[in-house]
Formats: sequence, C-alpha cells, structure tokens
Amino acid sequence: MRALLIDVDNTVSPHHSSQVIPEMRAWLGSLPAAGFSSRLVSNNWHASLEDRAVALGVPAIGKAKKPLTSGFRRAATELGVTPEQCAVIGDQIFTDILGGNLFGATTVLVQPVTPADLPHTRVLRRLERVIMNGRDPEA
Ligand SMILES: [Mg+2]
Repeated sequence: MRALLIDVDNTVSPHHSSQVIPEMRAWLGSLPAAGFSSRLVSNNWHASLEDRAVALGVPAIGKAKKPLTSGFRRAATELGVTPEQCAVIGDQIFTDILGGNLFGATTVLVQPVTPADLPHTRVLRRLERVIMNGRDPEA
C-alpha cells in the first residue's frame, strides 16, 4: 500500500463546510512520514473543496463522479501508483466504496464525521444500513 485516496465530505471534513478538523489535518500531515502519498478525491464541485484541500495540505481532485473510477485513476496517475497500491477511504458505500472496488483498490468504510447528509445521501444511507446489517464502519 503506497497511496491513500480519501473522500472529503463527511470523511475528513463536515460536508459542505469550510470547517477543518485539526485532528484530520494532523493525520493527513503525518502520512508522508508513514510512507503514504495521498490525494483527496471528491464528488464535490464547489469552491470550498479547494479551500479545504489547501487547509488540509493535500491536493484535491473534484467532480470525481464516484462511483465512476476516473477520479481515482487521475489520482493514481498523479501519484505514480497502481490501483493495487491504493486504499480508498470514505464514508459512503455507493460512491467511495463501490467506486474504489471498481477501481481495484482496497477500500475502507469510515463513520461520517457528522450525522448531517444531503437529501439524496439520506436515501442511500437507508440502503447502506441494509447492506451493513448491524455492522459498524471503522471509527
Ligand atoms: Mg463523503
């Protein structure tokens, strides 16, 4: 494993917020010393994404259209790694985890940093609960 491709909204930052969680910034900052390169890969297309990427210290690829794999492919190309060398980390099964698996990466489902979701995400959360069948994502 050489690279982490990390979702933004509700994975390392509250969704559609300019707030940056200090612990997340510290964790992202510790990755190079641990031997990982990283990119933020987000379906978000708003200007706030770039602001958060700068604040978090990790370049972002926006408009990724997850679960399509083009954003992950672009990130892996920028980092010079293969899909097998990537872990995709995110809070949604139908975007991050499905897309990461289609890309051929290892995937890690994490708990959202806030309970607030966009309306269409709330529908998908119900389906996620069916799929998870009582299991919890990584904290
Ligand atoms: Mg997310």
